[in-house]
Amino acid sequence: MLTTEQANELRSRLQADLTRLGDHAHSALEFTMDRDRDRIGRDSMDEATEEETYSTQLRLHDRETFLLEKIREAMRRLDAGEIDECEDCSEPIGFKRLLARPVTTLCFECKTAREQVESDALAEE
Ligand SMILES: [Zn+2]
Repeated sequence: MLTTEQANELRSRLQADLTRLGDHAHSALEFTMDRDRDRIGRDSMDEATEEETYSTQLRLHDRETFLLEKIREAMRRLDAGEIDECEDCSEPIGFKRLLARPVTTLCFECKTAREQVESDALAEE
């Protein structure tokens, strides 16, 4: 169980991440809207380059949306007092680990075990 100070520290970490990502997601959206507005009546010289920029932007946007979801989930876990509870073994996740990676849902042991399974699976291919 986290102390109030630890919970508060994690919350401000998550909130800062949320704000930072929220700003990015917003500019990605504006980019999309500008692009649609520009579409009418333009020549298609830079179409290929623009497509490339656009898909890079979209991939970035997807990644940010994914991260935002993880942060919101971590906030929910924090509010429910479950943030330091490992998803796999229910053992407490160390505060240092949470501080380094607030969106984690696994303790160090379980994370290591999972990575081991993943790399074993890769080796078999
Ligand atoms: Zn665990």
